[in-house]
Amino acid sequence: MIKKYDVIIIGGGATGAGVAVESITRKYKTILFEEYDFGSGTSSKSTKLVHGGLRYLANLDFHLIYEGLTERHYFIKNAPHLAHEQSYLVPFYTWREKLAYLIAINSYQFLSGCKKIGKIRLLSKQEIINQVPNIKQKNLIGGAIYYDGQFDDTRMLISLIKTFEQKGGHAYNYHKVVDIIKDNNRAIGVKVFNKLTNQEQIYHAKVIINATGAFSDAILNLDNPQIKHNNIIATQGTHLVFEHQLFPSQHAVVIPKTPDGRIIFILPWQGVSLVGTTDIKLDKPVIEPTATNDEVNFILETLNQYTNKIITHKDIKSIFTGIRPLVKTANAKNNAKISRKHKILYSDSGIITILGGKWTIYRKMGEDAINFAIKHNLLLPSRSVTKNTMLVDATHDKLDYPLSVYGTESIKIITIQTEINNFDLIHPALPYYIAEVIYQVRYEKAITIEDVLARRTRALYLNAQAAIESSRLVAEIMAKELKMNQQWIDNQVNSFYQYAKHYTLCSLSQ
Ligand SMILES: Cc1cc2nc3c(=O)[nH]c(=O)nc-3n(C[C@H](O)[C@H](O)[C@H](O)COP(=O)(O)OP(=O)(O)OC[C@H]3O[C@@H](n4cnc5c(N)ncnc54)[C@H](O)[C@@H]3O)c2cc1C
Repeated sequence: MIKKYDVIIIGGGATGAGVAVESITRKYKTILFEEYDFGSGTSSKSTKLVHGGLRYLANLDFHLIYEGLTERHYFIKNAPHLAHEQSYLVPFYTWREKLAYLIAINSYQFLSGCKKIGKIRLLSKQEIINQVPNIKQKNLIGGAIYYDGQFDDTRMLISLIKTFEQKGGHAYNYHKVVDIIKDNNRAIGVKVFNKLTNQEQIYHAKVIINATGAFSDAILNLDNPQIKHNNIIATQGTHLVFEHQLFPSQHAVVIPKTPDGRIIFILPWQGVSLVGTTDIKLDKPVIEPTATNDEVNFILETLNQYTNKIITHKDIKSIFTGIRPLVKTANAKNNAKISRKHKILYSDSGIITILGGKWTIYRKMGEDAINFAIKHNLLLPSRSVTKNTMLVDATHDKLDYPLSVYGTESIKIITIQTEINNFDLIHPALPYYIAEVIYQVRYEKAITIEDVLARRTRALYLNAQAAIESSRLVAEIMAKELKMNQQWIDNQVNSFYQYAKHYTLCSLSQ
């Protein structure tokens, strides 16, 4: 039997999850399909900033920054267990730099209007050295602190999916949309291939929303193979992860000028330091991009221009690379200058595609997509409520990491720990409990060990080698929950080894 919905969403990244929560909270019967795991695409590989984008001041993109800063407010308000205010330090090495960056951060603060967070303050050279001991001291004349947001991208995604489902939606990972169903040239549904059972199923809906990020053109090609769809420019950005002791700092440090006109951030995140990013054009998007040697060298060289003690390849604990789904514009030459604005397309058959944007504005993108459907009379009118919709597990209680990311659900992990009488970690170098793995299988749709080690926990992002070493134990715990056999365990471990290589130096391409 064909299942009927108001809204079908293709893609389980930030954009798809944002549309899903928007749609279900406006009472439309909604279903979402993700080809791999939720967040397997770009949405797990962001720099983890909730921001307007200081860098976009150089492009005079004031509306984009204003939109990001406004959404930053709702993002942190509705997910206080996953997003927080973070101080960012800009060091000055010349008076010219000082003047330029003080103007920039004051303008940035001004654009946030009544939604500003924190107060800009100046630090002396000595204060900076005390607070960031490995910062390069030669020629340092002082610095300034401003505030922005920071978050855990895939935990946010899982929380959005839980919110969507608890409010009545259905979300399926490992379900690939393989065809668009038409009636009189009008898109009325999708054919979905369930990768877990190898079966196909057809679903009908009033509205089909393509939220597949860098893969948007591929869905439009299914919709209309006659046209060569070319709406996306894919560029990749790489991050390196180090032990926090190598660059201890409670502040995120901003390297405000790289040779390609970007900003590099050194961020304290989940107990490590995360440094990035780059911007390299790609011919074709892939789900799991690989960092290049040049990118890694570029980040290390740039970083070491700002450190006293040199950080080397040997210090790298993890490498991760994401693909920006940028909206193609007529004269897009310099990647850094291509706008991060989002855009909505409407195909002749009636498919709505929402592309571009950034994680920070997932809510606004969702609101715009549903409003667009209403404007085109595809859905009955309704009002958005997501500015004031807390995520279902949100709490202001301050728990320690990693239990903090589960919000109100953390109690279930503590219960599992008591039930199995096991308070152990999955690996001595990782902060994650065995009980979390069980919770993630039971309540968070974790199906493979990659789902657990890359996206439910962030093990692979914090320490790729430790994640690899813990993979057999994780597979054994999951097998018990899922009633899988030894063969499944061996297969899982083998495929995780292949996958995890992308996060180590072994994977580097030229
Ligand atoms: C390096 C980098 C750093 C970034 N840093 C930040 C940051 O700090 N802050 C910020 O706000 N933003 C940041 N961004 C931007 C942000 O991460 C992206 O804009 C956002 O994650 C894109 O989400 P998406 O859902 O559109 O795409 P994706 O996350 O790629 O999701 C699309 C999904 O569609 C699925 N899909 C594709 N085809 C099908 C199909 N046929 N059937 C079903 N599913 C399908 C894919 O598997 C994928 O999971 C960064 C981006 C990059 C690349």
